[in-house]
Amino acid sequence: MNTMAYVASESRYSKIAYRRCGNSGLVLPAISLGLWHNFGHVDLRSNFENILYTAFDLGITHFDLANNYGPPPGSAESNFGAILKDGFGSYRDEMIISTKAGFTMWDGPYGDWGSKKYLVASLDQSLKRMGLDYVDIFYHHRPDPNTPIEESMGALDLIVRQGKALYAGISNYPPDLAKRAFDILRQLGTPCVIHQPKYSMFERTPEHGLLQTLEENKIGCIAFSPLAQGLLSDKYLKGIPEQSRASRNPSLPPEQITPEIVSKIEKLNDFAAKRGQKLAEMAISWLLKDQRITSVLIGASKVSHIHDAYNAHQRVDFSAAELADIEAILG
Ligand code: NDP
Repeated sequence: MNTMAYVASESRYSKIAYRRCGNSGLVLPAISLGLWHNFGHVDLRSNFENILYTAFDLGITHFDLANNYGPPPGSAESNFGAILKDGFGSYRDEMIISTKAGFTMWDGPYGDWGSKKYLVASLDQSLKRMGLDYVDIFYHHRPDPNTPIEESMGALDLIVRQGKALYAGISNYPPDLAKRAFDILRQLGTPCVIHQPKYSMFERTPEHGLLQTLEENKIGCIAFSPLAQGLLSDKYLKGIPEQSRASRNPSLPPEQITPEIVSKIEKLNDFAAKRGQKLAEMAISWLLKDQRITSVLIGASKVSHIHDAYNAHQRVDFSAAELADIEAILG
C-alpha cells in the first residue's frame, strides 16, 4: 500500500479528448486502460498502482476488467478493488469501470460461456472482488454457440434492471450475431451501447463488416489489443526481452514473432519515426483516425506506456499518402 494517499491532478480534465459512445449518453476517453495483464497477484502493486494514477491524472477515466484477468483469475479485480478501497474509490463517480464474463472462470458447467446462471453469478463475484455496488458496463465476453442468444442478452437486460450494471456491451461477436444481439437488447429496452473487438494494424477483421454494422446501429466501438500485445512497438526488434509479454505470458507465444513480422515491424518503426512518432504511438493514432472508434483500449506494463498512448491521441491526422504507405508495408 502507498503510504501517501493519492490525490488526482487538478488539470485532469483539460487533457484527453472524450468521444461519444454510439448514440448513448456515455462518453469515453479516447484512450482507455485494460487490466488483462500486469495487474494480477503475480505483479508488483506499486507499479500497477502508479499506472492507474498516471492514467487518471491524464483524464483516462475508463478502466476495463473481466472476471478472469490476473493471473490468477480474479486477481486483477481484487487488486483494483483494494486500490479503490485505499482511496482511489473516492473518485468512483468520475470513473467508468467495466467487467465481463464469457470465458472459463470456475469449474463445472456454470463457470463458462453465456448462460444466465453463469453471467449473473459471475457479475456478483466481480462486484464482491472489486467492492462495488455496480459496474458501469457489463459485457458478454464472447458468443456462446450452445446458449440461445436471447438468454445471454436477457441476462444482460436483467443485470441492468437490477442496477448491477448501468450499460450492456458485447465483445468478440461477429457482425451478424452482433446485429441480433443489438436487436434483442433494443426490444428488451436495454440498448447495447458498446462492442469490444480486437482491432489493430495487424488485426483488420473489424473492417470486414463489423465497423459498418456498429455505425448503422449507432453502437460505440472500443478496440482491444491495439498494439497486438506489444508487437506494434520497437520492443521485439532485437529479440524477445526479459519481462516482455512474449517472455512472460502464453497469450503471446514467441513463435508468433516470425522474421516476416519483425521485418514489417522494422518498416513500420522507420515510418513512424518519419512522422515523428514511436511505432506504439502511431499504431494507436492510426486506430483513432476513424471516428467510429470511441476509444482505444491499451494495456500497459509501465507508466511510460500511458504517456505514449496519451501522446498518440494528439496525432490522429494521416495523409492519404501516409495511409497508402502503411498499407503497402502491412501487405
Ligand atoms: P496492447 O495491444 O496495448 O498490448 C499491451 C502491451 O504492449 C503492454 O503490456 C506492453 O507489453 C506493450 N506496450 C504497451 N505500450 C507500449 C509502448 N508504448 N511501447 C512498447 N510496448 C508497449 O493491449 P492488450 O493486449 O494488453 O489489451 C488491452 C486490453 O484490452 C486488456 O487489458 C483488456 O482490457 C482488453 N482485452 C479484451 C479482450 C476481449 O476478449 N474482450 C481480449 C484481450 C484484451 P509488455 O508487457 O511486453 O511491456
